[in-house]
Amino acid sequence: MNDYREAMPIPASQPLPSSADSTSPAPDGTVTDRLVEANERYADAFTDPGMDARPVLQVAVVACMDARLDLHAALGLELGDCHTIRNAGGVVTDDIIRSLTISQRALGTRSVVLIHHTGCGLLSLTEDFRHELAAEVGQRPTWAVEAFKDLDEDVRQSMQRVRTSPFLLHTDDVRGFVFDVTTGLLREIDPQG
Ligand SMILES: [Zn+2]
Repeated sequence: MNDYREAMPIPASQPLPSSADSTSPAPDGTVTDRLVEANERYADAFTDPGMDARPVLQVAVVACMDARLDLHAALGLELGDCHTIRNAGGVVTDDIIRSLTISQRALGTRSVVLIHHTGCGLLSLTEDFRHELAAEVGQRPTWAVEAFKDLDEDVRQSMQRVRTSPFLLHTDDVRGFVFDVTTGLLREIDPQG
């Protein structure tokens, strides 16, 4: 039941393991220090692309936060093309609807792409996670874990939540996929099952 802890063994406040030292100029730097240094190099080579905030392809991609899923590379996307909205599982929660609503009504997107993936951490969790968390910390989370056992069915559930949202302007082009982390390929999910 402690998978979620084992899955993140490097707290941001602790030094990186030695394997990362070769790429980190500061041997005692934290993960965040390393990111800030990388940003300085990025900014050195950066030129203002002069882009509008409205996504060029008028699409919002909702996906799991999984570290193996490089959305821009996997979908052939360039900077400025789309909104990427990510959370644990890529499930359509109220906050995803909030972002989609702003994406469509304020920033002009019209299409929604939903992406779950094989090997998702949520496949191994249940709502027990929430109950155990409440017992441990003495406060019940206001959110559901949104764990699932059937990837395809959860993609359908997510598509349904988007399609039936009263807040969205565009719900005719909503498509859902499962990304295979071993092949890099998307598999489209039939909304009707
Ligand atoms: Zn996942």
